[in-house]
Amino acid sequence: MNNKDKILLCDVDDVLGSLVSPTLSIYNKIYDDNLNTSDITEWDITKFVKPECGNKIYDIMTSPSIYDIVTPLEGALDGINFIRSEGIRVVFVTAAFLSVAGRKFIWLEDNDFQPTKENYIETFDKSLIIGDYMIDDNLTNVRSTNAKNKILFNAPWNLGLKWSGNRANNWNNIIELYKIWTNNKEDNG
Ligand SMILES: [Mg+2]
Repeated sequence: MNNKDKILLCDVDDVLGSLVSPTLSIYNKIYDDNLNTSDITEWDITKFVKPECGNKIYDIMTSPSIYDIVTPLEGALDGINFIRSEGIRVVFVTAAFLSVAGRKFIWLEDNDFQPTKENYIETFDKSLIIGDYMIDDNLTNVRSTNAKNKILFNAPWNLGLKWSGNRANNWNNIIELYKIWTNNKEDNG
């Protein structure tokens, strides 16, 4: 199998663009708090916000306007472009509530990630999607994917989770891992 037959399943939120950070800046203003991304040490963000906010944090996080202030992570666009230059098909796979359906496609376009309708999938069950490589910050997705080569993208909410597979701190790490995989021509989890 050569590279052009291979598929990277790439998450969007907090892998290509920072979602938790702008969510917290809006939350801090509304609820007069001082939370940072590093304070969110579990996936369930409601555990860290004030009780009067609770589930309302998701009103902020899943509002289409949040993507007006989501910014690309350092190295993400270069990383995607490099992987594409290797002949890999990049498919953006993202869990999207109905409130933001389609909004992340526009965000990807606006930030030069060049999504196409064939290479953009919204789903909460990423195990259904066929791929060779996966990058995601949600351990559930990394565990359940059928992709052989997978990377957990480090974030404060997954650092405490037990995972013996590959982790990356940033896009440089991802490219290093990708090069190791392709040089060794082996499939490592
Ligand atoms: Mg994510």
